[in-house]
Amino acid sequence: MTRSKIIIVGGGLGGLAAALALAQKKFDVTVLEQADRFREVGAGIQLGPNVFKMFNVLDLVNPIEELAVFPEALVMRDAITANEITRIPINTASFKKQFSFPYGVIYRPDLLNVLKRACEQFSNIKIIFNKRALTTRQTETSASVICEDQSSYDAEVIIGADGLWSEIRKNIVNDETPRISGHIAYRAVLPLDEVPDKARKNEVILWAGPKTHLVQYPLHRGEIMNLVAVFHSHRYEEGWDVYGESSELKERFSGQHAYVLDLLDKINSWKMWVLCDREPVKNWSNGRISLLGDAAHPMLQYLAQGGCMAIEDAVCLAYHLDRQGENIIGALQAYQKNRYLRTARVQLTARFYGDVYHATGPTAELRDLTLGGRTTEQAYAGMSWLYDGIDKVGRQKF
Ligand SMILES: Cc1cc2nc3c(=O)[nH]c(=O)nc-3n(C[C@H](O)[C@H](O)[C@H](O)COP(=O)(O)OP(=O)(O)OC[C@H]3O[C@@H](n4cnc5c(N)ncnc54)[C@H](O)[C@@H]3O)c2cc1C
Repeated sequence: MTRSKIIIVGGGLGGLAAALALAQKKFDVTVLEQADRFREVGAGIQLGPNVFKMFNVLDLVNPIEELAVFPEALVMRDAITANEITRIPINTASFKKQFSFPYGVIYRPDLLNVLKRACEQFSNIKIIFNKRALTTRQTETSASVICEDQSSYDAEVIIGADGLWSEIRKNIVNDETPRISGHIAYRAVLPLDEVPDKARKNEVILWAGPKTHLVQYPLHRGEIMNLVAVFHSHRYEEGWDVYGESSELKERFSGQHAYVLDLLDKINSWKMWVLCDREPVKNWSNGRISLLGDAAHPMLQYLAQGGCMAIEDAVCLAYHLDRQGENIIGALQAYQKNRYLRTARVQLTARFYGDVYHATGPTAELRDLTLGGRTTEQAYAGMSWLYDGIDKVGRQKF
């Protein structure tokens, strides 16, 4: 017996995780995706122990573990002097004892494929491509999505998992376009044989420089190196698929250590992202319609958690819709109530970390002293709200 019909707008990481979580609870799920097929950017994504807790519920730990890399440490280095500022060992016995799950990094298309393949196992998930949702309507007993091609789909619940530029959000939250942070990210991957020897480390390394940072980590069973270079800029182009200019990057990172410059030099083609977020809100559900992931709480990537939060949302949403049966509106309210403070904290802390990474002068000195002076146990204690801040169904522990 299948249960209520649920439409998910958006087949990204959050939308597919939600489809899976809901299908496991026997809901009848349709995903409307605007693209003609699944697409993920050819870059990396970090997966904290918190999202592995969700993979456990979704029965995805094994397929993810087959494809992920498990780094030995999270490291911050000064981009000018190359001095190590802080090093946090991860995936050690004490890390796993503290957080129960590992810390992985994975190639984003691999993660999307794992989700896609898991969804294919469920006959109660239907995915329709080339469907760009524009708006929603609802009555007391049902809701519908209206698409750009004039088609419409009826359901008992609609979930907007349509990302930062969400159309579904416009029907629920009365706010403006996303906030442009003034930070730009350039992303690229480098085959391992092109990575300088000294940079071949199984670590997530963040090179903190004045108004810049560079993140490196291995991906895809260690066959490629992921690079994300971030700098301050007022250039603005909407979207996630624009080529960046190497000359701009060289100018922004000039004067940095040869290690950083050598890595940047290896890349010919970068993809550029204008980094945006929004102020936290607590009203992302209205009647039978709700939001999830970046549509609900877009955040800067400085805690590497936007995707993790979307997957936590997915598990929590399915838990409440399952538990509250016919009371759909109550379930969506309970889902939002159990998520908004945690996601707000990540949104706000991520902004703060952007300032910490890009600090200069006394702020940078204070950063180095504070982070460098921590023991591993103190570092773990500082991370526990994030990596251990949910129960097994994604509810925040506040
Ligand atoms: C540089 C960078 C690094 C990051 N690193 C990390 C990291 O290490 N760890 C981490 O957890 N997160 C990271 N993130 C954040 C993460 O990428 C996002 O938070 C995550 O992709 C959000 O997933 P989502 O499913 O909510 O939205 P999206 O991934 O944006 O997916 C939305 C989907 O909806 C579709 N869609 C949009 N509009 C419509 C419409 N109107 N109708 C139908 N379909 C529609 C889109 O085509 C897309 O498939 C990073 C982000 C950036 C920019």
